[in-house]
Amino acid sequence: MAYTYDPQNIFARILRGEIPNKTVIETEHTLAFHDINPGAPVHVLVVPKGAYVCFDHFAGQASELEIVDFHRTAAKVCAMMDVAPDAGDGYRAITNAGENGVQEVPHYHLHIIGGRHLGRMLGKA
Ligand code: AMP
Repeated sequence: MAYTYDPQNIFARILRGEIPNKTVIETEHTLAFHDINPGAPVHVLVVPKGAYVCFDHFAGQASELEIVDFHRTAAKVCAMMDVAPDAGDGYRAITNAGENGVQEVPHYHLHIIGGRHLGRMLGKA
């Protein structure tokens, strides 16, 4: 099965400049901005500019340039937000996918969350 990308999703609209965002850093292939409803003092979304629905879509289909740019930018976000463990107190990088992953916005994004202790990753269901 191939992924179908919805060009009206909210991050597509942000990338087209139709909706404002609080940008942390922008590169040729990547945009990182503050989450509108932060779950912690630091909550930044790292978003590839290409039309990818979720992690495996991006990791499987994006060009090497896009993949490298995305991850280098995510690393810069960690440093800029002072959460990288070499100088700060650490963070969690999360991506949700599909229904079981409870993904709300169908454009791939990595959450960089920190600024407080985040507890264990998952409760036992
Ligand atoms: P997910 O559930 O992984 O798809 O996460 C979507 C995230 O996007 C949530 O944390 C929302 O708070 C965030 N979000 C939704 N709309 C906006 C927006 N306009 N600007 C910034 N973040 C947003």
